[in-house]
Amino acid sequence: MSGGKPVLIDERGLRVDGRKPDELRPIKIEVGVLANANGSAYIEQGKNKLLVAVYGPRELHPKHLALPDRALLRCRYHMAPFSVEERKSPAPSRREIELSKVIREALEPAILLDRFPRTAIDVFVEVLEADGGTRCAAVTAASVALADAGIPMRDLVVACAAGKVDGQLVVDLCDAEDKYGEVDMPVAYMPSKGVVTLLQMDGILTREEFEKAFKMAILACEKIYEFQKEALRRKFGAVQEEVSGDK
Ligand code: ADP
Repeated sequence: MSGGKPVLIDERGLRVDGRKPDELRPIKIEVGVLANANGSAYIEQGKNKLLVAVYGPRELHPKHLALPDRALLRCRYHMAPFSVEERKSPAPSRREIELSKVIREALEPAILLDRFPRTAIDVFVEVLEADGGTRCAAVTAASVALADAGIPMRDLVVACAAGKVDGQLVVDLCDAEDKYGEVDMPVAYMPSKGVVTLLQMDGILTREEFEKAFKMAILACEKIYEFQKEALRRKFGAVQEEVSGDK
């Protein structure tokens, strides 16, 4: 530690939590964890813990918001007061309003909204524990919850950040790396379409670094995509077996 900033890359080239630069935090995804939502998912990514609930397509209130040619996608990102070390006010902060918009925009291109004119699809993200990269974990879990709700999509959306800490390019930044590192660059991606639906960057990279970091983020997304599909298979594969077992 020097001047309050922790050492982010040690002499062995490892990160604050012992990871290699291109190593993801451990991920766990569960589908259909809430009985009263149309679709839901729970994700743990390192110390992040998030729940996502999806409702819809359903009748829209207030009605004047209805779109004649497609469904209206609404997202609410919320951090529980106990999700961070200092109690967070339960009132929506500017950051939560911004992240709600960012998450909606990352998901929107994947959903076949034109199949459900005049309806609403609502996505509620509850951050139970936060440790950096919650917008990415939210996008990853939300697309699984949308699939669980049976909402037709072009592909799942996966998100993961790349960035730079102590001069080293890394993926899937934790809170300390986000706070004390030089760059955080969240990317959302539809792997089977090869389409990027979100790219933000906090900090400065050279063009060469950007290209390398971007590739690292895409590779990380492709790994997380396997966890999403596996989670859906665990739920719907089991249903499929039950159905064929009944015959
Ligand atoms: P993201 O979670 O998508 O990386 P930010 O970069 O805005 O979004 O936040 C980084 C991290 O900062 C969060 O994941 C969380 O760990 C921490 N954080 C965010 N808001 C607060 C808050 N109000 N109090 C304490 N920590 C917070």
